[in-house]
Amino acid sequence: MDDRRFSLMVHGGAGTLDDARQRAMGDAWRAAIGTVLAHGRRLLERGDCAVEVVEACVMLLEDDPLFNAGRGSVLNEAGAVEMDAAIMDGRDLAAGAVAGVHHLPNPVALASRLLRDNGPVMLVGEGAMRFAAQCGITQVSDDYFLLAERLAQLEQARAGQTTMLDHVEAAPADETGKYGTVGAVARDIHGHLAAATSTGGLVNKRLGRVGDSPLIGAGVYADDETCAVSATGHGEDFMRCVIAKTIADHVDMQGLDARQATRAGMDYLLRRVRGRGGVIVIDHHGNCASGFTTRNMIHGWIEHGAEAVVRL
Ligand code: ASP
Repeated sequence: MDDRRFSLMVHGGAGTLDDARQRAMGDAWRAAIGTVLAHGRRLLERGDCAVEVVEACVMLLEDDPLFNAGRGSVLNEAGAVEMDAAIMDGRDLAAGAVAGVHHLPNPVALASRLLRDNGPVMLVGEGAMRFAAQCGITQVSDDYFLLAERLAQLEQARAGQTTMLDHVEAAPADETGKYGTVGAVARDIHGHLAAATSTGGLVNKRLGRVGDSPLIGAGVYADDETCAVSATGHGEDFMRCVIAKTIADHVDMQGLDARQATRAGMDYLLRRVRGRGGVIVIDHHGNCASGFTTRNMIHGWIEHGAEAVVRL
């Protein structure tokens, strides 16, 4: 029987923001996350599948230049956009992922196409772009992505000879960057789970560098038997801890709920690699949880169909 009480969570990146930046951007981020949650609610209420809803939510976030994904993607060391995205359906563990793609307004839509095609789970670089062309997916010119703020941010990272995540202003000495990846997890009224994550990666990242976001089990995971997870933060830390699957394993093997499993996952991330970032998690009962080791994470949720909550 359908449990009409759906749940939905979205994030717009974890990181460290100083108070001035938080004040300046807070309303815009709050409004953007609120809009995406409201859209997701409409889809879930009318009975859409979780996998369709997370794709739709991530596409909205990719279209918004406030976030480091799609249009607002940060630039790599060559001053170019290289995006990664993945999506997973908890019903049958179907998944699709793309890495190192460019000229696509919505990388998650290409990942979703792979998920539906039931062939390779992941395509990278030119192979992914060729697949996009074969699918007739619209491509856009560089002007769509090369936003003034991103160019300035790249100069800042180059001057400091560092890579940066997307939201760090006055970062503590051990936090060197800003995080702005986007993601969504959902449980639909039929009880199914799904997750999607999309990113431009790190500012000034090495050409060809791929983070955790498109890696199943690291930056994204969904299984109806356990939970759905989307991560944001320093990708190398999440990859080494296989964080999304680690959280799912805590639900599976120890019977933990979303909150307990998230806490266990974040403890592991900190203990083993001093990992920086966060996750959003919905377990198979629809319980929502978030955890982050940075000072902030832009995120929001609707738990069991209740009022939307947004946190920065
Ligand atoms: N996880 C992403 C990466 O490492 C970055 C982010 O979350 O902002 O590519």
